[in-house]
Parts: sequence; C-alpha cells; structure tokens
Amino acid sequence: MNLVTRHAALSDIGLHRQANEDAYIAEAPLFAVADGMGGAQAGEVAAGIAIETLAQTTAAGGSLQEAAAQANTRIFDLAAEDPDRAGMGTTLTAVRIAGAQAEFVHIGDSRAYLLRGGELRQLSEDHSLVGEWVREGAITPEEAAVNRYRSILSRALGTEPRAELDVFSVDLERGDVLLLSSDGLSGVVPSKRLAKLLAKDDLQACVQGLVREAKQHGGHDNITAVVVRLEAGDEAAEDGEATADVTLSAADQATAPPPSQAEGEAAADVTLSGGDQAAADAPSSKSAAGAVAAPPPPPRAAKRPPVSRLLIVAVVVAVLLVTAAVAANELYFVGVDQGYVSVFRGLPWQVGGLEFHRLYLRSALPVTALNADQSQRVQRHSLGSKGAALDLVRAVGGSP
Ligand code: MN
Repeated sequence: MNLVTRHAALSDIGLHRQANEDAYIAEAPLFAVADGMGGAQAGEVAAGIAIETLAQTTAAGGSLQEAAAQANTRIFDLAAEDPDRAGMGTTLTAVRIAGAQAEFVHIGDSRAYLLRGGELRQLSEDHSLVGEWVREGAITPEEAAVNRYRSILSRALGTEPRAELDVFSVDLERGDVLLLSSDGLSGVVPSKRLAKLLAKDDLQACVQGLVREAKQHGGHDNITAVVVRLEAGDEAAEDGEATADVTLSAADQATAPPPSQAEGEAAADVTLSGGDQAAADAPSSKSAAGAVAAPPPPPRAAKRPPVSRLLIVAVVVAVLLVTAAVAANELYFVGVDQGYVSVFRGLPWQVGGLEFHRLYLRSALPVTALNADQSQRVQRHSLGSKGAALDLVRAVGGSP
C-alpha cells in the first residue's frame, strides 16, 4: 500500500522558562525533536546544530545515523572551543519515513511513540539515569516521573567525542500515528492522555491539545510535539486532499532565535549533592551525568528493592573517588552549612545517609544575603582546589 504522511508540529516555551531550548524539524520525510542542555543559551545552540546538521546531511544523501554522528562532532568541537559552551549537548529523536518503513535514530530522553489501534507504545528508550533505574527494576516508571534526578541524561549528543546512538526501524501501517516529543511533554502528561489526544484527526488541534495539556501539568519545561499520521496515498487523493504532506506545522520556533534573556534562570546545573537544599522538586534543566557526576540512588521506601547494578557501580565509584580525594586532600567545594556559605572538603555527595565530605570552613556570610546569581554559583558545588573554593566564597561576598 502506498502510504503518505500528514503532520503537524508545535514547540512552546512553557510557563516557567525564559528561553526555548527545544528545536524540531517537520519536513517530510524527515521529522525530529532536539532538547538542548547547557547554560548561557548553549542548549539552544546544541539543539539548533543537531536539527540543522540532520537536515543538511540527510539532504546530501547521508543516513540518519551519519547525520547524527556528524551533529555530535560539530557540537562537541564547538563546546571544546568555547568555555561558555563547555558541556553543552542535546537530545535527538529523529525519524525518516521511506515508504512503509520508519527509520529512527535516538539519543537522550526525548521520546518516539507509536499509536496503533488505540494503543500507545514508546519506541525509544530513555537515556537518563532514572530510565536506567527503571530498566534495572530499581524504580517504577511512575516513580521515575517524579524523581529529582529525572533530568540527568546518561547519554546525549555532543557531550562525548563519539555518540552512542540507538538506531532502529519500524514497519508502518495505515492509520499509524507517530509522536516525537521532548520531556516537557512526555515527562508530565500520562501516556493514557497522550493516546487520547493523538487520536484526533485534526493534527493541528492535536499538537495544540498536547501543548495545552503539558501546561496544565505545570508547564515547567519547554514543550515540543511533532505528530505524523500515515494514510493510504490513493485514499487521500480520492478525498481531494492535497496528496502528500500537507504541512500543518504551526512552526513557532523551529530553531528558536537567540533570546534576550539575561539572568534569573535559576536553572543550570542539577545539584548532585546531599539533600539539604530542597532542589527535590524540579531539577529544571537537563544535565549530563559525567564521569564524576553519578548522583546518589533514589530513595526507596519500605520493602527491599532489587539492588540495581548501576547503583552498585555508582557507590563503588563514589567510594573509590572519595578515598582518592580524601587521601589526596585536594578536592573542595562551596556549599551551605547551617545557613552560611561554607567550604567543604570532599565530594558533594550523600549516598544512603553516608556523606562524602566534611565542613572545612563556615564563613559569616548568610546564604540569604546572596542574589540569585551568587546563590546559583554556591549551589553548583563545583569541585576544585581549596584556593578556588575560598576565592568563590570571597567572590560572593564572604571573607574566609
Ligand atoms: Mn526538556
């Protein structure tokens, strides 16, 4: 059967962010969503490069996989050149439709779904720390959805010299609906609701409904939805519809223009530290779980959980690093002790009630005296030398 596509796409800044770091493309046969991460607009840059490179490379005859690999190199190289963009990266979930085949390339925690016969199936795996925990059986998907570490990616595009991409394909049928979404949508709207909203025949109304629903669930993050519907080619022609690809795209910001926002985005790094500061609720921006950045495992209640392999590895790595750090006596970070800006020796972790740091010095500067920017620098818990930590305390107004 000759299948053709109809599609619609919409990206929305959401209710709390000052910039849209999501980007997408919806130009049949290529569809993709990218959700960038990194401070100072670097996330937008990374997502923009991913989408642009994908379009260029596939238009020049390259495979999706080659295109994604190329995008990875571009982002990685740019991040290496520019300290402001160090660590930037992006998710990428892309599909190219060729006849009745959908080829996917995927990395990160944006998602690809297939709605068939009223059933919604997630085609992609979440490359996030909590996604790994779910696959290990340590937590349930419901727990993952509200876990404080849900925004930490285990894989992303542009953060390593070579990207570990998932590549897969799906045979399509008439009536199938594909959804590509950023976590601002799929992280908050339950899949039952997604299935219901995707069943709409009017695709424009469909993407608008998806964005509206994400906002009703808080709209904390940028929200992006790309919806593609597969129809019989001859049928569409008989109906007098413009045959293939009627573009219904509400193209708000395919690759968002640079924003004019200066500060106040209390987002940036997800803090990986011991639980004093109640970041518990919404780790706002994405961040990559780097080599030194494995956070403590999710808290478990009551019954004994199956011990996750990842968890054991994280603890072992933490213990080794701490032993090394303490032995060398050279890692310090700035944080808060009893309400005052303080310097700690060790690592800003707490695993199962065990702290991997101790107080080195408490300044007389109350944390309440800091402005948003200073507070963010303190909460970041960047590791460094004793001198660097003391410099930071001075820089925010303390005098150790
Ligand atoms: Mn997001």
